[in-house]
Amino acid sequence: MSRPQAAGFLPYARQQIDDRDIDAVTSVLRGEWLTTGPAVLRFEQALALRCGARQAVSCSSGTAALHLACLVLDLGPGDAAIVPAITFLATANAVRMTGAEPVFADVDADNGLLTAAGLEAGFARARTRGLVIKAVLPVHLAGQCPDLTSLSQLARAEGARIIEDACHAIGTYHACPNGSAAPVGACRLSEMAVFSFHPVKTIAGGEGGAVTTNDPDIARRLALLRNHGMTHDAAEFRDGDLGFDRRGTANPWYYEMVELGWNYRLSDIHAALALSQLGRLDQFVERRRGLAQRYDELLAPLGRLVQPIRRSRGCLPAWHLYSVLIDFAALDTDRAAVMAGLRAVGIGTQVHYIPLHRQPYYRQRDPGLVLEGADAYYRRTLSLPLYFGMSFADVGRVVDELQGILSRRVTKVAS
Ligand SMILES: *Cc1c(COP(=O)(O)O)cnc(C)c1O
Repeated sequence: MSRPQAAGFLPYARQQIDDRDIDAVTSVLRGEWLTTGPAVLRFEQALALRCGARQAVSCSSGTAALHLACLVLDLGPGDAAIVPAITFLATANAVRMTGAEPVFADVDADNGLLTAAGLEAGFARARTRGLVIKAVLPVHLAGQCPDLTSLSQLARAEGARIIEDACHAIGTYHACPNGSAAPVGACRLSEMAVFSFHPVKTIAGGEGGAVTTNDPDIARRLALLRNHGMTHDAAEFRDGDLGFDRRGTANPWYYEMVELGWNYRLSDIHAALALSQLGRLDQFVERRRGLAQRYDELLAPLGRLVQPIRRSRGCLPAWHLYSVLIDFAALDTDRAAVMAGLRAVGIGTQVHYIPLHRQPYYRQRDPGLVLEGADAYYRRTLSLPLYFGMSFADVGRVVDELQGILSRRVTKVAS
């Protein structure tokens, strides 16, 4: 069979690096500081401002940010946190790293977002397992928010606090109960929001993460825990004997370790890149929104066979992924065949995500758990290429190829 030679390969995601980014990084390399220094501070201030939060504390990855957020809520052995079953491993792993147990909750079968019913069932399951839920970690899958108003009401009624896993959702806005819109990261309905600057995300830092919060005590403790639990701040010293001289002045060499911490610092090299990228966030979001809209239009004729994920109400998404739901069963094909077919013509796709409660590590911790929404979402989901460097013509090419592969199936089934 002859087919036109595929143009360049279209991965499902890719970073956008320009000369401004390269200049920002090289100027750090020419300066004094490589690790946490002035670029980190500037990035944290810019991120807090952009998100409408009082403070942002950066760290070495989104996973580290999730871990720090769980530590700050004092999660530990005997505690639990509710995590939607459709997310990246790190959301649940961060809970486990503290010794606490993730309890998986069901999601909307059509967009993978945590639902109020799923959260309620999660609380009930935790009770039957004798676990105290201290935190809920809603995930802003693909860039959309779940209904944070109802989730936060439910969580508060149970005495649990909210950590938003916003790794997909920098630039997204969500509705507040008073009818206003808030940027994700403003933490209007949560204690903390967590971001990742892994290169597949909307802004790249190489590696990197951050937590935003409006609570200065939380911010202080996050900063402490990302740096070995040690402080040079005399106001935080607990041992007056060693820290101060005879006149009560803090000794210049002195530092104090007040609790067990990690080395989760961000470097100035990474922060300079992330800061430079943050300056183009609006452009990134606008392009992704335009590309997503083009996909929506071109896919519309395919009807129920290939649908965009259901739009979440009360949310203006900054799309991180363009995920669709494909009725593989009705098409008498399977996902592996469609992915291979697309790959053969130079189009990369990915699956976000395998439900966490089905991972061997987690299945053996809660063997009987059935989550039908998560399974139904997983069965049908496929993420198509979406990134700043794509053109509308690239979107057309993806849809044409997908349609071609699927219609050959339909013809075969019909004949
Ligand atoms: C990427 C991602 C993480 C982890 O971020 P890293 O920076 O790669 O550690 C956590 N949660 C979600 C939903 C993610 O997509």
